[in-house]
Amino acid sequence: MQLLDGKTLAKKIEEKVSFEAKEFKKTTGRVPGLAVILVGHDPASQAYVGMKKKACDRAGFYSVTHEMPDDISQEAIIKTIEMMNLNPNIDGILIQLPLPAHIDTTKILEVVAPSKDVDGFHPFNVGRLATGLDGFVPCTPLGVMELLSEYSIDPKGKNAVIVGASNIVGKPMAALLLNANATVTITHIHTKDLRAHTLGADMLFVGAGVINLIGEDMVSEGCVVVDIGINRTEDGRLVGDVNFDTVAPKTSYITPVPGGVGPMTIAMLLSNTLKAAQNHGEEV
Ligand code: NAD
Repeated sequence: MQLLDGKTLAKKIEEKVSFEAKEFKKTTGRVPGLAVILVGHDPASQAYVGMKKKACDRAGFYSVTHEMPDDISQEAIIKTIEMMNLNPNIDGILIQLPLPAHIDTTKILEVVAPSKDVDGFHPFNVGRLATGLDGFVPCTPLGVMELLSEYSIDPKGKNAVIVGASNIVGKPMAALLLNANATVTITHIHTKDLRAHTLGADMLFVGAGVINLIGEDMVSEGCVVVDIGINRTEDGRLVGDVNFDTVAPKTSYITPVPGGVGPMTIAMLLSNTLKAAQNHGEEV
């Protein structure tokens, strides 16, 4: 069993991005810029936004966070996004999810200019990913693909099973793996016999948000296991969706939590924001 060390790779990518940001400044006189929209006071969202801001600082990016109260109107959020769409110092716009229940998330995500959609959630970029064209790809699944590539793990011809089918994790993960010529199965909460699917996996990608969802009896010998879940235990520890201690000995490769996919997500946000800056506002 070998660990897929996202922490080390993320650091390497951040160093490369930070070097390229300096080159970008030499030619354009400005640094890449990221605008974050944070609605409400969800502690997890605040923590994630804080981490993203720190990462921007490390990479030498400009970043601004628009903090808005829980009861903000949809129109006010849309106005702020439209301002950011027009702001030449902003290359990337990120809407921290989840938004409060009275806000139509789909509508909000559609207001972000596709050329600044560094989270890859706009239907324009979702469509480009689905058709295998260049565009902005959601940071978490993109980070997973970078991690596989770093360890020369090629999904081509492999049975790749994904647990979780959200727009943020599972669906884009499936599109990327399909584009990489894997045979892809997506499972979710309504899947009848989850174990029957996971046992057939050469590569297993788990992003459900359920502690210990995957135990050793659900994984075949030699499987590559990527744990995308982030959960907090009652005693405050961060754990994934996979029972690491029992599953790890059966795997060929496995991501730890923390230190696996999490740091890669932040590194990919920086990389997507740099790409948006280098594209000079073009859509791809
Ligand atoms: P979500 O709630 O939107 O989606 C969860 C998905 O898992 C759904 O498709 C649901 O059907 C499926 N699911 C839930 N319970 C299941 C079960 N018992 N069996 C099979 N499928 C089940 O969540 P999300 O935003 O996609 O996030 C999923 C997990 O990934 C969470 O733990 C989240 O914290 C984590 N996450 C991590 C990163 C990172 O950077 N590592 C980024 C985003 C999300």
